[in-house]
Amino acid sequence: MTKTILITGSSRGIRAATALLAAKQGYNVCVNYLQNEKAAEQIVHQINQNGGKAIAYQADVTSETDVKSLFSKIDDDFGGLTALVNNSGILETQSRVDNMDMNRILRVINSNIISCFLCSKEAIKRMSTLYGGVGGAIVNVSSIAAKTGSPNEYVDYAASKAAVDALTIGLSKEVAEEGIRVNAVRPGFIYTDIHANGGEPNRVDRIKNMVPMKRGGQPGEVAKAILWLLSDEASFSTGTFIDISGGR
Ligand code: NAP
Repeated sequence: MTKTILITGSSRGIRAATALLAAKQGYNVCVNYLQNEKAAEQIVHQINQNGGKAIAYQADVTSETDVKSLFSKIDDDFGGLTALVNNSGILETQSRVDNMDMNRILRVINSNIISCFLCSKEAIKRMSTLYGGVGGAIVNVSSIAAKTGSPNEYVDYAASKAAVDALTIGLSKEVAEEGIRVNAVRPGFIYTDIHANGGEPNRVDRIKNMVPMKRGGQPGEVAKAILWLLSDEASFSTGTFIDISGGR
C-alpha cells in the first residue's frame, strides 16, 4: 500500500528529522511550512535526490481555509494520506502568567491546539473507514511540559500541550473502530530553534542538568518514536504517549 505522510510545520528541527526518516521508510512526504520556504525546499530536495518523493506545501495550519486547501492539494498530488503528524507549534517569550497578554495566550492556543483539531478533522475524513478510507495513524507532538507545567516560562504553552494530550485520548477512542490510531510523543528539552523563539537560544544547555540523563535530546530521537507509533509495529497502541525526555 502507498504510504503518504503529512508533517505540519516540517521545515526545521523535529519535523525535518521526521520527514527524512519517513522518506527512508518509504513514505511519500508532504512537508508543510508557514514561512520558511527555503528550509522546506531543502528537505524536499534532499528526499527527492535520494529517490524518495516529497512536496513542500505552504499553509498556516491555524487557518481552516488553508488546512482545507492543503489537504485537497495532497489529494491531487498523492490521492490522500495514511499518516498525519501534528507537529507545528510555537512558544512565546518566557514570562509569568500575570504578565501574559491575551493576544499572546490566544496565539499559543491557536497554534498548538486549534491546528491539531483542524488537521485531524481533515485526516479523519480521508482515513476513516466511516468515510470509505482504509485507516491510518495520527501522532500529536505534545510536550513533557504538559506534565511539568513550565512555571515562570510558558504556562500557556504547557496548558496547550495538556489540551493536546486530552485530544489524543478522546480522539483515539472516537476513531478506534474506524481503522485510525491516535498517539502522541512528549519531548523534553530538544535542541531546536524553538528555544530562540522563547528568548533563550541556549536554554537546553542551561537546564540540561535538571534531566536525569543530564543532556538534551536530538530531533532524530523524537523522529524515531514518531515513526514507530505510526508504523504497524505499534498496531495495538492507541491513545498512548511516549515521553522522550531523558527521564524527566
Ligand atoms: P521549531 O524549530 O520552532 O519549529 C516549529 C515549526 O512549526 C516551524 O517549522 C514553523 O514553520 C512551524 N509552524 C509554526 N506555526 C505554524 C503554522 N501556523 N502553520 C504551519 N507551520 C507552523 O520547533 P521544534 O522544537 O521542532 O517543535 C516541533 C514541535 O515539538 C512543536 O509542537 C513543539 O511544541 C514540540 N516540542 C519541542 C520541544 C523542544 O525542546 N524543541 C520540546 C517539546 C515539544 P516555519 O519555519 O515555516 O515558520
